[in-house]
Amino acid sequence: MAGAAEERGPGPAEGEQRQEQHVACQVFPERLAEGKPGQGFLSSFFTNNQKCQLMLLKTLETNPYVKLLLDAMKHSGCAVNKERHFSCEDCNGNVSGGFDASTSQIVLCQNNIRNQSHMNRVVTHELIHAFDHCRAHVNWFTDLRHLACSEVRAANLSGDCSLVNEIFRLHFGLKQHHQTCVRDRAILSILAVRNISKEVAQKAVDEVFESCFNDHEPFGRIPHNKTYARYAHRDFQNRDRYYANI
Ligand SMILES: [Zn+2]
Repeated sequence: MAGAAEERGPGPAEGEQRQEQHVACQVFPERLAEGKPGQGFLSSFFTNNQKCQLMLLKTLETNPYVKLLLDAMKHSGCAVNKERHFSCEDCNGNVSGGFDASTSQIVLCQNNIRNQSHMNRVVTHELIHAFDHCRAHVNWFTDLRHLACSEVRAANLSGDCSLVNEIFRLHFGLKQHHQTCVRDRAILSILAVRNISKEVAQKAVDEVFESCFNDHEPFGRIPHNKTYARYAHRDFQNRDRYYANI
C-alpha cells in the first residue's frame, strides 16, 4: 500500500517550501486521516507510550550513532527537538517506525519497538532519512531513486545489517555480505511504502546503489558497531572544530 499526501518540505532551517512527497518506512493512514494516532485502551496505551518515551530519551542521550546524527543535523541547520520531532504512536502491522516528511517527524511505533537496542536502530535509521531530508532537496514521492538512495544509506549506516554481519563474518566475506544485506533491506523498505513490483524496486536500488552505498555522510565511514560510531562521532566533532578555526 502506498500513501500519497500533500506534504511539507524539510526541517526548520529550510523554510516552508511545499512539495508532493512521502517517505517513510511505513505509511500512516490513520495519521494522515486524523492527524493523531488512535487511542484505544488508555491505560495500556499510556504504558507503551511511557516506555517508548523512556527508551527514546536513553537513545538520544547515549547512542553514538544518534549523537553523531543529531550533531550533524544541528550543524546543517536542522536542530532536532525531542518534543517536536519525535512521536511515539501505535502503528499497523509489524512496522517499527517511519519518517513523516509532512511534519518532519520521526514516528516510533510504541507497540512494536521491543527493547532498547531496537529503539537505537529505529531512531538511527529514521534520523538518516531526516538528515537526507535536511541536507538535500529530496523528492521522496516523485523520484523513486531518491527514496532508494536514502533507504540504501539508512540500511548501510544504521547498523541494520551489523548484527547479521557479526554472525556471518566467520563464514563469508564481510564486505560482500554487508552489501547484499543493504541491498535487500533497501528493496524491502521501498516495497513497504510503494505499490510497485519487486523488479521496479530492485532496478531503482541498483541504479543508485554504488554512489549511495559509498556516501557515508555524516559518519565518514560505515559504522559497523558502536566503537566505530564513537570514532566517527569524535572525527565529526574534530572536523567541526577544524572548520570553526578557519
Ligand atoms: Zn527507511
